[in-house]
Amino acid sequence: MANLRFIVVEEAFKKKAVEVETPAERPSEYFAKYVFNQEKMFKYLPKDIYKKLRDVIENGAYLDLSVADKVAEGMKKWATEMGATHCTHWFQPLTEGTAEKHDAFIEHDWKGGVIEEFSGKELVQQEPDASSFPSGGIRSTFEARGYSAWDPSSPVFIIGDTLMIPTVFISYTGEALDYKAPLKKALAAVDKAATDVCHYFNPDVRKVQANLGWEQEYFLVDEDLYAARPDLLLTGRTLMGHDSAKNQQMEDHYFGAIPERVAAFMKDLEIQALQLGIPCKTRHNEVAPNQFELAPIFEECNLAVDHNMLIMSLMRNLARKHGFRCLLHEKPFKGINGSGKHCNWSLSTDNGILLHAPGKDAASALRFITFVVETLMGVYKHNGLLKAAIITASNQHRLGANEAPPAIISSFLGKQVSEVLDKIENSTTSELQALSGKHELKLDIPQIPELHVDNTDRNRTSPFAFTGNRFEFRAVGSQANCAAAMLVLNSAVAEALTSFKERVDALIANGTEQTNAILTILREDIKACKPVRFEGNGYSDEWKEEAKKRGLDCETSCPVIYDRYLDKSTIDMFEKMNVMKKYELEARNEIKWETFTKKIQIEARVFGDLAMNHIIPVATRYQSMLIDNVHKLAEALPQEAEMLNADNINIIRKISRHTSFIIENVQKMIEARKVANKVGDTRQKAILYHDNVAPFLDSIRYHIDKLELIVEDEMWTLPKYRELLFIR
Ligand code: ADP
Ligand code: MG
Repeated sequence: MANLRFIVVEEAFKKKAVEVETPAERPSEYFAKYVFNQEKMFKYLPKDIYKKLRDVIENGAYLDLSVADKVAEGMKKWATEMGATHCTHWFQPLTEGTAEKHDAFIEHDWKGGVIEEFSGKELVQQEPDASSFPSGGIRSTFEARGYSAWDPSSPVFIIGDTLMIPTVFISYTGEALDYKAPLKKALAAVDKAATDVCHYFNPDVRKVQANLGWEQEYFLVDEDLYAARPDLLLTGRTLMGHDSAKNQQMEDHYFGAIPERVAAFMKDLEIQALQLGIPCKTRHNEVAPNQFELAPIFEECNLAVDHNMLIMSLMRNLARKHGFRCLLHEKPFKGINGSGKHCNWSLSTDNGILLHAPGKDAASALRFITFVVETLMGVYKHNGLLKAAIITASNQHRLGANEAPPAIISSFLGKQVSEVLDKIENSTTSELQALSGKHELKLDIPQIPELHVDNTDRNRTSPFAFTGNRFEFRAVGSQANCAAAMLVLNSAVAEALTSFKERVDALIANGTEQTNAILTILREDIKACKPVRFEGNGYSDEWKEEAKKRGLDCETSCPVIYDRYLDKSTIDMFEKMNVMKKYELEARNEIKWETFTKKIQIEARVFGDLAMNHIIPVATRYQSMLIDNVHKLAEALPQEAEMLNADNINIIRKISRHTSFIIENVQKMIEARKVANKVGDTRQKAILYHDNVAPFLDSIRYHIDKLELIVEDEMWTLPKYRELLFIR
C-alpha cells in the first residue's frame, strides 16, 4: 500500500496557480463596492434620514426606531439590487472568531405567501441564542438571553448573498458578552480624556479618535498536506515534526519573489478586501518559509478591528479556493518564526492633528511630549495587564522565544525622544525656556523624518515601540481579536490622561501658569514611568534580571498572567473609565481559563493519539525490519555477524529507548489530565494543565522528532516540515 504522505506530496507538487481575473475597473472604483458607506447612504436614504444617521454615526446621537425603519428600507433596497437575499447580525463573541445567524429578507404577507421585508427592528436588534456562546457564568447568574445590537459606526456590508450587520453582543442585563462592546466604551473614554487634554493646546478640538493599523502575518500550507496532518487540522499547529534541514537560515524567503500560487491567492484576497472597503496596502513574504504578511492603511480603531476580523475569515475561506489552508496560529511550526499581528496605534483629532507625531512647530512639541509620556504612563501602570491582554495558549509559544517580543512589556522610544524626555526631567521650566532663547517655550525637538525612525532607530525586540508617529504594539498574536489588546491600551491611556489633567488643573487652580503646570506634572510622570522605558535588547537574559529589579511584570505562566485582570488597579481603571465592571472581568477570566484548559486538553489528546497510533506503530515496524535483517545476516554470514550487525543493533536499541519513553510518558500525560479534570476551580485547573500537562507535549515530542530522523523515510506517514514549508 502506498504511503498517503507520498500521494499528497505528489498531488501538492502538481498544483498550478488558480486564475484570478483582474477587475475591469480600477481599485479606486471598486473600493467598498459591497459596503453601505456614506456615498450609498446618501443615495439610498431620504435626506432627513441621512442627516439623522450621520448624527448617530458621528456624534453618537440616539437612533430611534422610526429612523431605523427608514434606514433599513434604504439598506434593503441597495442590498437587494446587489443580489442579497439574507441578512445577519455579525458579532464577536468571546471565542476567537466571529459569529452570525442568517435570516432571509422575508415575512408573511398574510395571504399565504411571503414578501421581502427587512424592518428597522431587525436591523437594530436581534436575539442570537446567547447560551451557546461563552459567558463565564454571566448567563447562569442572570439569564440565558443575550441580544446583538447594530453598531452604526461600522458600516454594513455584503458577502455572497448576505447583508452583514456589525453588532455588539450583550446580555439582557447589560453585561458585555463580546469584545466590541467594551472596546467601544474604551474608545469613548480615550476620546473624552484626550479631547480634554488637547484643550490645553488646541481649544477647538472636538473629538479624538484612536487609530489602528494592523499587520497580519500568516502561513499558507497546501491543503492536501494539511489534511494528512491531524495535529494541524485539529489544533492549528504541528505538535511534532523535526526541523527541516533547510529552514529560514538563508533568509531567502523574506526577499524572495512571491510564489505563483501564493501570488494568485494574494491578488484574489486583495481584490475582495478592497471591495469590502478594507484598504489593503502592503503584502510580502515574511521571515519564515511559507509565511506572509498583509497590512492595510490604518483606520479608526473600531472599524479596523472589524476589518481585521473580516479579513481573517476571508483569508481562511479564500485559501481553500486556492488549494491552501491559511494558518493563523501564532506558532504553527517549532523552530521557525511564529506569526504576530503588530498593532500600530495612535490618537488623532477631528481637525487632523496626529497627537503622537512631533508636529511641525514648536508649540506642538509640548503636546506631542504630553501624549507620549501619558501613553507610557498607561503602559507602565498596566504592563502586566497588557500582557494578560495578549497572552493565550497559542501566543505563549511565540512570546519569549527569540523572534518575538519578550514576555515583559516595555517600551522603546528611540534616541531622540528619549533625550527630550531626559532633558525635561532634568531641567526646570525656566531653564527650558532659556534654552529656546525666545519668549515662547521651545522644546528643541529635532525634526524626526519618519524614514529615519523607521530604518535606523528601530528596535525590533521591543513589545511596544515608538515608530515616529505611532506606537507599535508587537506582542499581539496573529489569530487574536485585536480588540482585546486595544480595549486595555485605550482604557489605560484614558486613565493616564484623566489623571494628568486632574493634577495639572489642580496646579493651575493654585495659580501656576499653564505651561509650567504641564511641565511640572510631566516631570513627575517621566520619573514615574521610567521603569517601562527600555532601549536595549529585549531578548537578552540581563533584561529579564533588570526588568525584575524595575518591578515590571515578569510572570510567564499564561493562566497566572490572567490574574492581572482582577488586580485592584485593573478593576479601578476599568470601572473609572466606565468600560467594564468587576463581575464582567471575573466572568471573562472564567472564559479565559476555560479556553486555555480546553486548548491544552485538545492538544494533549491529539498528541497522545498520534503518538500511539502513528508514531509507535511506524517505529516498531521499522525496528522489526532491522531485527529481521539482523537475523538474516547472522544466518547468511555467521562468522562476521557480530561486527556486521553492530550498527543495526545500535539503532534497534535507540528506537526502543525512544518508543518506551513515548509510551510511558503518554500514559503519565493521561494521568496528569485525569488529575486536572477532577479540579472544579477553573483557574486551578488551567494552572494544572499549564504546569503538569503541557510540559509532556515538549518532552515526548523530543523523542518523536528523533524517531523521525531514524525511521526510513518511506514508512513515515506524517508530512514532514520540509514538505509543509516548502511546497507551494
Ligand atoms: P512595518 O515596517 O512595521 O512592517 P508596515 O508599513 O507594514 O510597517 O505597517 C505599518 C502599519 O502602520 C500600516 O498599517 C500603517 O497604515 C500603520 N500606520 C502608519 N501610521 C500610523 C499611525 N499614525 N497610526 C496608526 N497606524 C499607523
Ligand atoms: Mg510592524
